[in-house]
Amino acid sequence: MNDFIVAIDGPAGSGKSSISKMVSKICGFTHIDTGAIFRAITLYALDKNIDLENENEYNFLSDIKIRFDKDKVFLNDNDVSHKIREDIISKNVSAVSKIKKVRDRVLEIEKESHGKIIMDGRDIGTVVFPNANLKIFLTASPEERAKRRVLQNESLGIKSNYDEILADIIKRDYKDSTRDIAPLKCADDAINIDTTSLSIEEVCNKIVNLIDERLILWKI
Ligand code: C5P
Repeated sequence: MNDFIVAIDGPAGSGKSSISKMVSKICGFTHIDTGAIFRAITLYALDKNIDLENENEYNFLSDIKIRFDKDKVFLNDNDVSHKIREDIISKNVSAVSKIKKVRDRVLEIEKESHGKIIMDGRDIGTVVFPNANLKIFLTASPEERAKRRVLQNESLGIKSNYDEILADIIKRDYKDSTRDIAPLKCADDAINIDTTSLSIEEVCNKIVNLIDERLILWKI
């Protein structure tokens, strides 16, 4: 079977992961949250106490195994789904994700995906799958995104402070969109959806309709 790839990109807290999760359930697609892969690598790097800015200290990348099982993320067979959402990870992940060795390793993992896939991240439509069947770019104001992240953290039992989250989001947007390799960018052929005043269900419906349209073309 040919692969059918939906690329969903956008800045921190734009709702990519929650929306991708919902859409993949409705459409029967496999969801891959690539931010979780960078977060898991960050957790490992912090545990090893390496200098995150030094590319030479990332020789451990071939030793680590990251896999998804339903909504859970496993790092070398340990469930790290909650740990990777902590603020310490959010604060450090952009330093890790700009390292070439890290991006090359993650690209290998991403390219192993086959079938009907929804992959969310920052560079899926531009670098990972430039020929994706559908590309969506989700945005929302930084304030709305910070509000959502606080609520998401609460639901995971993680305490967080709105002002700190907002500052982190603005900093992370800047770092992610100005890095040299695979920066956060809307692909020329992506459909841009501003979700600031939309509910998660409204965004979800829009994307499901777009997938249905593209699936008809794909089957012809
Ligand atoms: O999506 P999430 O906020 O969990 O992503 C965490 C971080 O992982 C981002 O801020 C970015 O630095 C990095 N990332 C990336 N490329 C992707 C997905 C995430 O650089 N495709």
